This record gives sequence, C-alpha cells and structure tokens, in this order.
Amino acid sequence: MTAIDDLLARNLAAAEYHPVGMGPVPTLEIALVMCMDARIDGHAAFRLNLGEVHLLRNAGGVVTDDVIRSLSISQHALGTREIMIIHHTDCGLARLEEDVFRAHLATFAGYRPTWSVQAFKDPHDSVRESLRRIRDSPFLLHHDAVRGFIFDVNTGLLEEVFVDGDTPTGQLDPAATPPPPGSARTVVAAAIAADSGGEVAGH
Ligand SMILES: [Zn+2]
Repeated sequence: MTAIDDLLARNLAAAEYHPVGMGPVPTLEIALVMCMDARIDGHAAFRLNLGEVHLLRNAGGVVTDDVIRSLSISQHALGTREIMIIHHTDCGLARLEEDVFRAHLATFAGYRPTWSVQAFKDPHDSVRESLRRIRDSPFLLHHDAVRGFIFDVNTGLLEEVFVDGDTPTGQLDPAATPPPPGSARTVVAAAIAADSGGEVAGH
C-alpha cells in the first residue's frame, strides 16, 4: 500500500465531515506564505478555521514568481489585503548549498534549472529577502500590511523579522531617512501615499 492509497482511505472518512456552503473569499482577508515543513500545521499554529485565510506553501516559504502569481490572484480577485511571511527554525533549505544543489540537479537532468533553489543559512535573511520581493512587486495591490516571522519548531512561537526602516507595526516609519528612488521602500511609500492621498517622501 502506498501513501497515496492510505490517504485515499483517509479522505473517504474525512469527507463525512467536510463543511459545505463556504465562499472562496478568505474572511480574514489575509494570505500566509509558509514553508512546506511537515512539522508545521498552518491552521493549527494560528487556531485558524477553514475559509479564513489563503495558505501558500513551498520549500522555505520563499517568495517565488509563482507565489507572486498566487498573491496577485489572492489580492486582486479574492480580496486579501495583508500578507504574513513565515519561515522557521531548522529548515531543510538551510541544509542545502545553492551551488551544490543546482549542480546536482544539472547532473541529474542534463541541464541547470532556470529557477533559484533559494537556499539560505539564516532564516532572518530569507524572510527579509521575501519581504523585499513582495514590496518590490508591481503586481500586488496592497504592500502596506506585510510582515515577516520565524516560527520556532520547538516552541510553536513566532519571532518577527524587520527590514531596515520598518516600525514594529510592519508599517514604514515616515520619519526614517527617505529611501533612494526605485528602492523597495519607495515602492511601498508610494502605495501608502496613494492610499492616504499624501505626498511620497523622497519621490
Ligand atoms: Zn522549511
């Protein structure tokens, strides 16, 4: 019996309790981007109910083009306004070397993948990179409530990670030094200014 056969049997039992009549719009208007790690239950970690959030998972919880694709649909078509990035301690991606793993895949497949593995050593760095990618994306409707965290797989608790210039609320600090034109912060500042009808600092 394969694991798939096992899961098919479990599905028959679970379907008895499947809720009906729910709509596709997440009621909390938020998307979570999280690592696929088998030790983390995305719904249980936040005591979530079905229908409350979009939960996007991949290796590392990193922001790839496909995550931007999903977030674009989540925000433009399904009404979410906030994003949480959730990476974690003891991540499998931290055990990989980017170049070594890409070379392994190249040997295996005959050519290098077009995508980055996005391996990292420190999850703080990977959360910051993912936050920057979201804030730099021109496809997203809402950039002003985007916050990043590291989930501790031993305690189940979160540590927030900040990008330089952020305040603890996840909003940009307007008193901070104006960012250079074209930077991630300029893009976010422009989005905030557009919301409030105000001037864009440093623009
Ligand atoms: Zn992981």
